[in-house]
Amino acid sequence: MPFCKSCGTLYTKSLGVCPKCNAEQKMEEQNLEATPADESPAEAKRHTRRRWLAILLGIPALIVFIYLMGLFMKVFQA
Ligand SMILES: [Zn+2]
Repeated sequence: MPFCKSCGTLYTKSLGVCPKCNAEQKMEEQNLEATPADESPAEAKRHTRRRWLAILLGIPALIVFIYLMGLFMKVFQA
């Protein structure tokens, strides 16, 4: 049975990696994702609002674009 070189935990070969170290690493990654170092909460809020604005404007714009394309196709076919 293999054991982790950094923490000494025994693990099964089927896992491939140390479950303890892997879990710690994953938690660290999640923490990094949750609180980006270079973004203040106010800035993050602004970014979120901007993203929502892009979605709210982008979807109707896409629908209008598809509608116009359909109209053009009809005009050219007729
Ligand atoms: Zn380990």
